[in-house]
Amino acid sequence: MKFKTIIEPFKIKSVESLPITTPKERKSFLEREYWNVFGLKSQEVTVDLLTDSGTGSMSSEQWAAIMRGDEAYAGSHSWQRFHDVVADLTGYKHIIPTHQGRASEKILATVTVKEGDIIPSNSHFDTTRANFEFVKAEPIDLLCKEGLDLLSPAPFKGNIDLEKLEDILSRKGEKIPFVLMTITNNTGGGQPVSMENLKSTKKLCEKYNKMLLLDACRFAENAWFVSQREEDYKGVEIRDITKEAFRLADGCTISLKKDGFGNIGGILAFNDDQLAEASRNLLILTEGFPTYGGLAGRDLDALAQGLKEITDKNYLEYRARSISYLGEKALSYGIPIVQPAGGHALYIDAKTFVPHIPPHQYPGHSVACEIYLIGGVRAVELGTLAFGVAGANGEPDKPATHELVRLAAPRRTYTQSHFDYVAEVLEKLAESKEKLKGYEIIEQPEQLRHFTAKLRPLT
Ligand SMILES: *Cc1c(COP(=O)(O)O)cnc(C)c1O
Repeated sequence: MKFKTIIEPFKIKSVESLPITTPKERKSFLEREYWNVFGLKSQEVTVDLLTDSGTGSMSSEQWAAIMRGDEAYAGSHSWQRFHDVVADLTGYKHIIPTHQGRASEKILATVTVKEGDIIPSNSHFDTTRANFEFVKAEPIDLLCKEGLDLLSPAPFKGNIDLEKLEDILSRKGEKIPFVLMTITNNTGGGQPVSMENLKSTKKLCEKYNKMLLLDACRFAENAWFVSQREEDYKGVEIRDITKEAFRLADGCTISLKKDGFGNIGGILAFNDDQLAEASRNLLILTEGFPTYGGLAGRDLDALAQGLKEITDKNYLEYRARSISYLGEKALSYGIPIVQPAGGHALYIDAKTFVPHIPPHQYPGHSVACEIYLIGGVRAVELGTLAFGVAGANGEPDKPATHELVRLAAPRRTYTQSHFDYVAEVLEKLAESKEKLKGYEIIEQPEQLRHFTAKLRPLT
């Protein structure tokens, strides 16, 4: 028998109360923080959809694993358990633990990339891009055509454009150390990459004798979409799809704050002996000894358990469904979203939703503030405030390509009624859209300005 209701496949053992605030309080909190949602205190946010990174809930088995943690400096039992789970899942010869994804990226960029190199990808995540740019290489995004069109649905909008990839491999091969595939594609809206696309990419890498690496933060969510959308993989176990995907590549970076069910943690892994040795030498300088890499033994144990749980298809179905449910609600209220709904977040297209606010007055930011003012829900702008370039001498900013607002779902944290509440907030947002006003920046830092910029609503 098939049920219409997809329930949370877990029950609650420990609870944390949510603050319920009044509209007046919310306005005063935002005003105090110069209209920047990053300044808000957690106690001022009712449903926090700022990010899915490190914000998930651990299972009772993970908490039990925390107690099992062995804090020996070298060769701890926790490390052995972590290593065995990761080696079985990925198949890579060398597993290097780090404290989070960007620590893996920093080491990867240092040991594999030289000035002037080119790193092709479907899309680089922002910290990945920044780490390659830091060593004066050029990260390039070769997203497939369907991926560039935000509003029309296609099953695998995270795919790389194979023609463009072959073109750059054939022309600039000597400058390319490896190809990096991000699964799922965070920057492109949490969209999956098909196994077919991954296999074709692998073939091109073999033809041009290049490594293929994965930025595999959301490997389980990607495998879930493959099992739902790719003919050859219907009915295949999520764990098996995941294992196959990792084995198509020569190594990976992972932030375990995503599909590791962890609050902290990362992995760098290779098959290549020399790269692994160089990475471990650097790890000792920056993270720690190779059997703990910036993590406590108890973290490694909780992550080992999390990595066993993450490929549960009931969990993945509930997760994908909560986000697509929110997407259907948004569309029914006339709110344009990136389609289809992504694996970890819903993205509102603010450029289409509030066209009366020009990019240099931050339409996505205006929407994010309004979502907070209506119901205490925290989302984040990913548009000109985050990615635009500040104009010099009072000129308007150079706008970003898209004006998005991301509502990211922490893992196993919110229930159906929380999502219904967020849907109601979106309904009220749709009713007030004509009233929304732009913002101006009154103070900003030179880099990553969206975290700390001070703003003011235009009247
Ligand atoms: C989060 C993320 C990273 C960076 O990981 P951190 O743990 O935040 O340092 C890299 N790539 C992708 C695709 C991510 O989503």
